Amino acid sequence: MYDENNIFAKILKKEIPCDKVHEDECSLFFNDINPQAKIHVLGIPKFPCTTFSEFLTKAENSNIISFFKSIQIVINKLNIENSGYRLITNSGKDGGQEVPHFHIHILAGEKIGRLR
Ligand code: 5GP
Repeated sequence: MYDENNIFAKILKKEIPCDKVHEDECSLFFNDINPQAKIHVLGIPKFPCTTFSEFLTKAENSNIISFFKSIQIVINKLNIENSGYRLITNSGKDGGQEVPHFHIHILAGEKIGRLR
């Protein structure tokens, strides 16, 4: 059950601010408040969904394609395609997800260490 009052839902409703990197019809990208790398951007679809799996199963295909294309737009904006980057999505309890609105982490700007 999607929590309409999670922090990213509040950012989408503009109830709390964010440091925006990119926005379009289907998605919003902003800098992480507690960056784990020189570049740490979060990307969220505007579609209300808790996890990656929920997004993939409930959103329209056009919405899903748009979100993933937007990730590439942001990669281009950040100019990190050649230097490299890591995309992460944490899902659920075992995945260590803290904010229950599906999001992609884009980590870049330096060599990203091993996952664990
Ligand atoms: P998760 O662990 O759910 O994959 O990641 C949640 C991310 O959201 C964390 O990296 C955390 O620093 C970030 N975050 C939590 N609250 C806020 C906020 O209010 N604003 C921004 N910009 N990022 C946040």
